[in-house]
Amino acid sequence: MKFLLLLVVVVAAVWMWRSGRLADAASKQKPSSPPPPQDMVSCAQCGVHFPQADAVAGRNGLYCCVEHRQCAES
Ligand SMILES: [Zn+2]
Repeated sequence: MKFLLLLVVVVAAVWMWRSGRLADAASKQKPSSPPPPQDMVSCAQCGVHFPQADAVAGRNGLYCCVEHRQCAES
């Protein structure tokens, strides 16, 4: 009878360990959503395309860097 109780405990422990591993594997296999697309703009001075978040605003449009804004507006 003692042996049967030990067997039940071992089977329960293995079952819990396996179900935990399966849950881990399922969460790892979920595809991560790609980052949202960013609006791209082109520099008014050199024409290079870059994300609008990195743009430097000038009087005549958007620039890729402060130097190009200064070149265009001087
Ligand atoms: Zn530029």
